[in-house]
Amino acid sequence: MALQPRNAALFERAQRVIPGGVNSPVRAFRAVGGTPRFIARAEGPFLWDAEGNRYIDYIGSWGPMILGHGHPSVLAAVQQAALDGFSFGAPTEREIALAEAIIEQVPSVEMVRLVSSGTEAAMSALRLARGATGRPLIVKFEGCYHGHADALLVKGGSGMATFGHPTSAGVPAEVVQHTLVLPYNDLDALDAAFDAHGARIACAMVEPIAGNMNFVRAGDAFMRRLRERCTAAGALLVFDEVMTGFRVALGGAQSVYARRLPGFAPDLTVFGKVIGGGMPLAAFGGPRAVMEQLAPLGPVYQAGTLSGNPVATACGLATLQEIARPGYFDALAARTRSLVDGLQQAADEAGVPLVTDSEGGMFGFFFAAELPQRYDQVMATDKERFNRFFHAMLDRGVYLAPALYEAGFVSSAHGEAEIAHTVAAAREAFRSLRS
Ligand SMILES: *Cc1c(COP(=O)(O)O)cnc(C)c1O
Repeated sequence: MALQPRNAALFERAQRVIPGGVNSPVRAFRAVGGTPRFIARAEGPFLWDAEGNRYIDYIGSWGPMILGHGHPSVLAAVQQAALDGFSFGAPTEREIALAEAIIEQVPSVEMVRLVSSGTEAAMSALRLARGATGRPLIVKFEGCYHGHADALLVKGGSGMATFGHPTSAGVPAEVVQHTLVLPYNDLDALDAAFDAHGARIACAMVEPIAGNMNFVRAGDAFMRRLRERCTAAGALLVFDEVMTGFRVALGGAQSVYARRLPGFAPDLTVFGKVIGGGMPLAAFGGPRAVMEQLAPLGPVYQAGTLSGNPVATACGLATLQEIARPGYFDALAARTRSLVDGLQQAADEAGVPLVTDSEGGMFGFFFAAELPQRYDQVMATDKERFNRFFHAMLDRGVYLAPALYEAGFVSSAHGEAEIAHTVAAAREAFRSLRS
């Protein structure tokens, strides 16, 4: 591996003043080893690190940068908004426009509330679901990440329909005693949980295409059953589309399921990432009757000093305007597909077992014989191979997510040349894995 003196010096300096040297754990490269790259700037599909090395970026800030970095119309909107003022703590017209833009694309959403992070949006949706139903229990699925609110930092116990255990120190067991954690894509566990506790379940929260265990789709049968059980129990189905919203399709993952399951829709939806275009912005939304339970209209309290920030909403709005252009998602999906097809072919040629999947501008790949359906299957894929592949690609100027349980993202700034460069790098990297 090439020496990284400047990145290494920055990492050392960072570790003196920031825990682990990073402000979000995965950035520290702990899963793959090596020195994290300190990014100096970005443009289009590229990142440049502190050494001046250029990388093709398949993280895109973990999803938001769907247009690539520094898209001209987004940049202009942000510059103008900044000139007009950073924050007012009072309503602005752009908040209405962004709410309208979200509602226009996602029919299940009649009203939205803007917040500043996906964590905050998921936490608020949970409180709203509990407040609206008057019930305490929530269902989540192993391998799905909904931000770091206490009640959601929980993993499943052994066996079916069990209450979970905290996955972080600082979360008392009492705080997660109302969180039921079920294996993903497991109909029997789902039925057992609703049979035993249905009348006390406020909501089930799910990543419809789970991007925090690489890329795992909820199967159609599982999704249909989840919808049926929530409806029958009077519980709300909450789609966490922080990653998939405006990323796998303009209408989010729910539009992908609605294509195959006519009439399908969740009750509440959580958004983040793409709707902020790289600025701190997230949202949650749903039917008017549920959303009107929020303060100041209803009894469910929720607030934020920087919520609906004028610079962030300008960035998000300009981003959504670009991706709503006719044909945008077809082109992005085709580009993403050409990447995963190229990776697949390169792996096949090298005799390396690999499986891939993608939807819209989001993709995943696993060193395994078949696509995993659940978290434990994801974690059982070949980690050592993944880590070697990750570094082999990084050395060749391709920046993939530094952990096997993360999804990948293609932007509309990624051109054929970048895909070809990536596939050529992968061909060499796969060959090196055999040795
Ligand atoms: C990123 C993510 C979150 C958390 O969003 P933050 O803005 O990091 O707080 C929640 N849910 C999903 C599905 C995510 O991918």
